[in-house]
Order: sequence, then structure tokens, then C-alpha cells
Amino acid sequence: MDVDFSPEQRALRDEFRAYMRGIMTPDLREELAQPLATEGGGPLWRQAMRQMGSDGWIGLGWPREWGGRGYGPIEQYIFIEEVTRAGLPFPYLTTESIGPAIAEFASPAIRDALLPKILAGELVVAIGYSEPHAGTDMAALRTRAERDGDHYVINGQKVYTSLAHIADYVFLAVRTGDPETLPRHKGLSILLVPTSAEGFSFTPIYTVGDGETNATYYDNVRVPVENLIGEENRGWQVVTGQLNRERLTLMNPGTANLLYQQTVEHARNTRDGSGALLIETPRVQRLLASVYSQLRVLQLACRKQAWAIAQGTLDVADASAIKVYGYEAFLDCYRQMLEVLGPDGVLKRGSPGALLQGQLELIYRSVPVYGFAGGTNEIQRDLIAQFGLGLPRAKR
Ligand SMILES: Cc1cc2nc3c(=O)[nH]c(=O)nc-3n(C[C@H](O)[C@H](O)[C@H](O)COP(=O)(O)OP(=O)(O)OC[C@H]3O[C@@H](n4cnc5c(N)ncnc54)[C@H](O)[C@@H]3O)c2cc1C
Repeated sequence: MDVDFSPEQRALRDEFRAYMRGIMTPDLREELAQPLATEGGGPLWRQAMRQMGSDGWIGLGWPREWGGRGYGPIEQYIFIEEVTRAGLPFPYLTTESIGPAIAEFASPAIRDALLPKILAGELVVAIGYSEPHAGTDMAALRTRAERDGDHYVINGQKVYTSLAHIADYVFLAVRTGDPETLPRHKGLSILLVPTSAEGFSFTPIYTVGDGETNATYYDNVRVPVENLIGEENRGWQVVTGQLNRERLTLMNPGTANLLYQQTVEHARNTRDGSGALLIETPRVQRLLASVYSQLRVLQLACRKQAWAIAQGTLDVADASAIKVYGYEAFLDCYRQMLEVLGPDGVLKRGSPGALLQGQLELIYRSVPVYGFAGGTNEIQRDLIAQFGLGLPRAKR
């Protein structure tokens, strides 16, 4: 069995890798190094997104009818791995997770209006599921949408709505059913809410990884009925499919691969106190071998999932297993890479003597988010037990 890319896929990857070197200009890197710009949103970042869209890269694996290039999920996965490897903060949940949900469940009007813009790099969609009292237990959410003629009127509050400060829409989970008559998870719906809508507002929450997420507020926000994604009161089905795709995309090892290569380069060119090249010392060799093997396993698991999507057989337990393994591998790999760099590895970017532009230090601070983004790892283990091992559903 050949688990590697085909020669054509490798050629496409190399072409895109070279293309990204042109996109990542010094000016764009400078913009991204500014406080709170690590997730994009600045003018040069928006320009780069549009450029990649109009050059046909964002929709590489998408059907032509929505502006894609007509390749499949494996090529789309190559795009994601490479765009993150290049160091561009790419809103991949919009293209890889929300986009497919819109394609599958949205009204034709919304689908045909939004998908081409997403693939053109013109549109960012944030995810609004979590609330102050509903994280893991999402079915406890209280934000409510009432039908009023051909509109829904939304009232409530979300927390951790990442990217809402640069997004055009929020993919919002709301309660539409009557909690007295419907089981909690059966009364939920998904609405696409424009961030330009009257009554929508947000406040920032700053994270230890120099990033920003948001609390978002909905005060009599009116959205047309056609913004309903899927059927009313059947949002759970939309959410579970979206989350499985999210778990795969979150764990792609593009950034880790780049930092690994840079760490190896550092070890090749740096000597320890005794004058030996780091790369020649058994301790560093062991650390690098451990990182290499973990990243390679993760890469193969992600590629297998991309293949499963191409076959239409995305598996819940596999998606959760990648999430658990990927998070633990990231933590371990970044820690070991920092050990290779030594004390200067933990200097922040901009500090004299910072190594790898402080990128490894920054990512090590950011990585804990992977432990709960897309559902905490405790819950992923429950899903693996239930769907992968056939054990009884855990009590909630
Ligand atoms: C930086 C950041 C970005 C985020 N971005 C988004 C976003 O864009 N959109 C969005 O909707 N949400 C987002 N989230 C929210 C994230 O999905 C939630 O934090 C996550 O679902 C956990 O919910 P919680 O924080 O309320 O923790 P809780 O649900 O209160 O969990 C606390 C702990 O208890 C454990 N636990 C809870 N229930 C069980 C159980 N039944 N069995 C075993 N253990 C359990 C959990 O695993 C966890 O360890 C983000 C969070 C952060 C911090």
C-alpha cells in the first residue's frame, strides 16, 4: 500500500509551496508580528487572502460550480498543510469545516451567494456555539431565536467566538425549540448571522498565545429565514458533522513541520559548550528523532482522514483519535524542540537573541487551545470509546 502522495500531488504541493514564498512578503510578516495580528485581519493579510483566492488555491479541492479548481479532498488537505506551513494565519475552519456544512445544508440562495466568496478569500465565518453556561454541554445553550414572519429574532450571549472581530458572519447555534416539549439537543438550529447586523456586538478576550477571541452579544438581531442552515430544530446534525471536520483540520501538522525543519537547521549550525555541533550529540538526535516520528504519524493519520473524506467515510472515532493524539503530540514535540534550542528558545519574538523569530516560544504558549477547541480531549475519549470501541455511551 502506498500511503504517500502521487507524483501529481507532490508536484502540486511543490508548486504551491513555491507560490506561498511569494505571498509571505516581508511586509506581510511584519504586519502579522504586530500585537494581536497573529490571527490575521490586517490589510495585507486580506490582500493575501484575495490573491490566493483569485489564483485558485483556496478552493483547490472544491467543485468548479462554486469557484473551486475541481480537485478532491486530498489536494484540499495539501493546500491546508502547506498554507499553515508557510506561516499564514489562515481561517481554515471557514473553508474546511463551515464551507462544507453550508454546501450540504444551506438554502440554494445562501449557498450560491457565500461559497464563491469563501473560496475567493473574501469571507470569514466565526463559530458561535459556546456560551458561559454551555461549553462541553452544548445542548444547554440558551441563546434563543424566535420566528417573526420571514425573519428570526435572536437574543443571547456567546463566549469564545474566535475570529468574530474579523469575521463577516457567525455560524450561530440557537435554541428554536420549546425546552418543555423537545429534548434539549433536538430544539437547536444553526443561523448564519452577519456581523454587520443591527444588535450584534462583541468584546475581546485576550489569550496567553498573543491572540484574541471574543464574547459576542445578540440583542434583537434579525436575520432572514433563508439564513437557517439545515432544518429548524435539527441543528445538532449540522454541528456534529462540522465538528468532525474541524477536528481533522485543527490537527494538521503544517506549522509543526516548518518549526521542526528550522530546529534541525539550528542544530546543524550551532555548537554546544564543548564545541560539538548540536546535531551530532546523542541527546539532540534522540529529541529530533522523537519529534520526527510523532509528526510523521500525525501526518499519515491526517492524510488517511483526507482520503476517508474523499471516500465519504469520515469516521467519528478516527476524527476524535486524531484530535487526542495530535494535541498530545504537539505539546510533546514543541517541548522537545524547545529543549534542542536551549534557554534562548523561550525568548519572545523581538527580544535580543530570540531564536526562530520567537515562533516556537509563541506556539508553545498557544498550543493548549488544541486541548479543548472542537471539544475537549476528555469528551473525545468518550467518543472513541463509544463509536470506536462500541462501549456504552458515557453518562452526561
Ligand atoms: C481560545 C479559545 C477559543 C475558542 N474558540 C471557540 C469558537 O470559536 N467557537 C466556540 O463555539 N467555542 C470556542 N471555544 C470554546 C471551547 O469549545 C470550549 O472551551 C470547550 O468546548 C469546553 O467548554 P468549557 O470551556 O465551558 O469547559 P467545560 O465544559 O466547563 O469543561 C471543563 C472541564 O470539564 C471536563 N468535562 C466537562 N464535561 C465532562 C464530561 N461529561 N465528562 C468528562 N469531562 C467533562 C472538560 O473536558 C474540561 O476539562 C474556544 C475556547 C477557547 C479557550
